Order: sequence, then C-alpha cells, then structure tokens
Amino acid sequence: MQDVKLEHIVSLAKRRGFIYQGSDVYGGLSGTWDYGPLGVSLKRNIMNLWWTMFVDERDDMYGVDAAILMNQKVWQASGHVDTFTDPLVECSNCKGRFRADKLEDPNKCPTCGSEGTFSKPRAFNMMFKTFVGPSGQDELTIGEAMEGAPDTHKLEGMHALSYDPNAISYLRPETAQGIFTNYRNVVDSFYPDLPFGIAQQGKAFRNEISPRDFVFRSREFEQMEIEYFINPEGWEVEFDAWVAACKQWFAALGLPEGSVHELEVPAEDRAHYSKRTIDFEFDYPIGREELMGLAYRTDFDLGNIQRVSGKNMEYTVKGTNEKFVPHVIEPSFGVERALMAVLCSAYREDEQNGEKRIYLALPEHLAPVKYCVSPLLKNKPELVAKAREVYAALKKRYGAVMWDDNGNIGKRYRRQDEIGTPHCVVIDFQTLEDGTVTVRDRDTTEQRRVNYENIV
Ligand code: ATP
Repeated sequence: MQDVKLEHIVSLAKRRGFIYQGSDVYGGLSGTWDYGPLGVSLKRNIMNLWWTMFVDERDDMYGVDAAILMNQKVWQASGHVDTFTDPLVECSNCKGRFRADKLEDPNKCPTCGSEGTFSKPRAFNMMFKTFVGPSGQDELTIGEAMEGAPDTHKLEGMHALSYDPNAISYLRPETAQGIFTNYRNVVDSFYPDLPFGIAQQGKAFRNEISPRDFVFRSREFEQMEIEYFINPEGWEVEFDAWVAACKQWFAALGLPEGSVHELEVPAEDRAHYSKRTIDFEFDYPIGREELMGLAYRTDFDLGNIQRVSGKNMEYTVKGTNEKFVPHVIEPSFGVERALMAVLCSAYREDEQNGEKRIYLALPEHLAPVKYCVSPLLKNKPELVAKAREVYAALKKRYGAVMWDDNGNIGKRYRRQDEIGTPHCVVIDFQTLEDGTVTVRDRDTTEQRRVNYENIV
C-alpha cells in the first residue's frame, strides 16, 4: 500500500464525484456525507458483493430488511436506552465538547489548549430520539401551543408542551436488533436447521460526540450485519469459521495482505455478555483503527427479548424434544469503513511521461465504471457513430460503461484513472477498416488492439 494521506482521499472523492459533505450548500451538517454518482456505485458494489458472498452463495443464510424505526421496547430490552453511551466532557473555557476516551491528553482541550478546564465525564446517550405519530412535542409551533396558556407556561416555552412518552422512538443505532426481533418470524416461516444466520444491510445512526476522519466516524452510516444462530456447544469452531470468512471478505475488497490486524479484545474491555470479541483493524491513514467487529454474544439478545416480550425464543432441534435459546456469533461490518479501506488500498501515484498521475487500482468487480468509450476525434462523425455503436453494445453487456469525448485522449485517460476505470476503449480510423479498437489498461497504461466484438 502506498503512503496515502487522508486529505488525498477526501479531495479525490469530492473532485471526482464520489463523496460530498452532507448539506454542503448550507454550510454542511457535521457527521453526514452524501454519495455522488461514482460513490453510490462503489458503495453498492461493496454492499452487493457482501450480499452475494454472505447470503446468496450460502445455504444457511436468510436476508431481512427491517424498519429503521422500532418499538422503544427494543432499545430498552437491548440495554441501549440505559447504556449506549460515550463519556462526554466539556471545556469550561471554549465550551467545546469531546469524547473523553478519545482525547490525546485527558487534561488539555484540543480546541483552545486550556488545561484542567474539563468537566467531569458524563454518560451521553448516542441514540437520536424522535417521536412517532402526532403526539410528539414538536407538532405545534410554540406560538400555537401557547395560545391561551397561563403566563407561567408561556415562560416555560417548549417545556410546557406535553408529549406522550410512549411515542418516543429512536433512529436505530445498529441494524442487529432488527434481526433479533425477526428471529422468531424467520424460524416460524422457514424452520431452518441450526446453525443458520440472518443478514441485514441498512442505515444506522449514532449521535457521535465528535464525528471525524471523513466517513470513518459519521453520525449516519450503513452497516451490514449477521446474527449467526448456533448451539452453544462447539461455539469455538463456529467463531473460527467466521474469522476465516471475514478474511475472505477483506481479500475480495482488495485490501493488501498485512493491512488488516486482529485485535483480540481483552475480557475487561468486552461488553459483559460477550465471551469473545475480535476487532479487525485496518491501517488507515489516520492510524490503525476498527474496520469491523466479530463477537460471540451468547444468548444475551434473544434472552432479553424473551424476558421483556414474554414470547418464547427457544429453538426446537428437529426430530427431538431438545429446546434451547440459541447463542449468536455476530460479524458486524461497517460500509463506510470498508469503502474507506478500499479507497486507501487502491490509491496510487506514479509518473507517466514525466507527469504525475493519480489512479485508483480498484478491483474490477468494485470499480464504479468498468469501461470508458471514446472516439479518437470528436469532430469526425464516422468515428463518433462507430464509437456510439461500441458504447451501446458494451453498455448493454456491462451496464457500468461511460462515454467520454471531452478534451484530448490523454486527459480522458487521466480522468478515468482517477476514478479507477480498468479499461478505456478508443475508436479510431483503423476501427472503421477492421473492427479493432484500442483497449488501454489502467494499471500498466498498456494499449492493445482487439476486435471489439471480443470484449462484448
Ligand atoms: P468505535 O469503537 O470505532 O466507535 P464501535 O465498536 O462502537 O466502533 P460497533 O458498535 O461494533 O462499533 O459497530 C460495528 C461496526 O459499525 C464498526 O466496526 C464500524 O465498521 C461501524 N461503525 C460504528 N460506528 C460508526 C460510525 N460512527 N461511523 C461509521 N461506521 C461506524
């Protein structure tokens, strides 16, 4: 992997239409990011690859797509309402707020430099709270709600508005709970053999105290999670199989060997219900940080659901009377952190004909554009017509094909290199004679003449 700086990635991502700051036109909204045309393709290619590897190609996996808004009891039973917190400190000098456990110097404010000005840490719940239905506190303007209210209430402003506590809900901080709450449904519909897994992809929201490092720590992000239900006897074997499956995934993403590290999380740092956790860390430009996690969560979640809902979560082993609440192994993948690892692994700088070149050596199956098609000269109608024909045929075959006739060929190649397009096809006068086109390879920049029908 080349020595790549985060600002290179951020700047390329913006310049070439991968990722923009969320709400940029209004000055942005911290911790949110918008995917542009190429970013959304790259992200979907990553998510589709995951679905293919972990759901479609296996016969022990079931996919679900649960609602983001869930009954508040989900988050009470799971422990998120009480304990999904990060330690927050405030600087009394500049009023900056920070996550206490991520401070470089626990005594010194990173914004204003004051020392000893931090408040005592307090537990800050990271879930975004909202109200479901017209019983929330924000359905009336303050003016409307205050109309005719006694003066004392007017003074209290927002606090005078009543709302129904049962209407509270949260934007889900993880997709996992949407899997656990559908465990019974899947078992009843499909009666799968144990072990089996339920997989889900989708948005998760966390009100991070200090979102930072590009998409690495966002307030809105995407997860791909699996709950793999097992008989607790022999959990070690299943856990090891998931370690191996995660490594296959890293290889499929094109992450170089040696760039991902297994961190065996010691007991004192694990959640109390976890018997074993491995954090897979990647060498990001910001340092070695968590890419994804793998945890043996025992029967903690299904046990909680059974206790709070009163519904039976036991699995009956086929052909026997043996019943138990299955245990789970949970591989939890973050899409943004995978995407950032892919971009950092693919980023290259070299020199071509004495000029600096930037390119993304993306694996072909992840590249947002597979082929770019150009006529050598834009002002020769016969070349343009032939190029359009080749473009249409390739597009029908591959979908992700781009047309580019702007500027000279060299500029077109540079643009395609920067977005990681593996092949550039150019139609020239020889094409009109013998049906061959030049195909240029992104990484080697070598050009070959091939009959275009062979590519199609
Ligand atoms: P961290 O310690 O970095 O805050 P975490 O241990 O809280 O992460 P998990 O709760 O294990 O993270 O979430 C599973 C995965 O979801 C993470 O490995 C990561 O890939 C992704 N993820 C979690 N929080 C964020 C975030 N704020 N932005 C982007 N991805 C995230």
